[in-house]
Amino acid sequence: MTDKIKIKEIFDSIQGEGPYVGEKQLFVRTTKCNLNCKYCDTDFLCDENSKEYNFDEFFEILKSSDAQTVSFTGGEPLLEADFLFEFFKRYKNRLNKKIYLETNGTNAKNLKKIINYVDVVSMDIKLKSATGLEFSLITFDDFINIAKEKEVFAKVVFDENISNSEITEVTTLAKKYGILLILQPKMPISSTLNIDEIFEKFYSKYKNVRLIPQVHKFLNVR
Ligand code: SF4
Repeated sequence: MTDKIKIKEIFDSIQGEGPYVGEKQLFVRTTKCNLNCKYCDTDFLCDENSKEYNFDEFFEILKSSDAQTVSFTGGEPLLEADFLFEFFKRYKNRLNKKIYLETNGTNAKNLKKIINYVDVVSMDIKLKSATGLEFSLITFDDFINIAKEKEVFAKVVFDENISNSEITEVTTLAKKYGILLILQPKMPISSTLNIDEIFEKFYSKYKNVRLIPQVHKFLNVR
């Protein structure tokens, strides 16, 4: 059994992405990721400030925040699913906070381990045009198929290279499950990116779509 978790940082801040933008949350950043997106600007790797927690220590530090929601982010927090399963089993009720999972949407097997304890799943649908990584849509389909037990929405980071076939594939998948799609322009926003046009291409195919940039970057908060 995994009885410790390595954490890059834990901090209170304002959620800057997606439909919960503006909500105070306690952010817990894990230290590993299974992907290497070309736009990644998150410093999640272990350094001398990273800390290891056992179950009790982890509970105490999460409990000490007055934020009503804990956002597990990374890196990829589902790589810590074994620890999180044990932790939630022991402490979710006593923690008395909403569990918000920010995930790259590629590890359905690990999501299954902890889905009973998660309240909101904020997943990505990764486009080859933006990430440089190629995924079959089946990867995200399998993931949504488990996440749909709870509240779930999907973020799509895009840039000027997004293709019409990507828009068709993503909207077809979203429509299958009726999930909210969040269109998030890659930062910094390129001068050649026609945001209106791309939004309309999505909207003409699927109405449950919103355009929300990374608000924390405009506000200069973490
Ligand atoms: S999944 Fe997220 S943390 Fe991992 S490389 Fe991509 S952008 Fe970075």
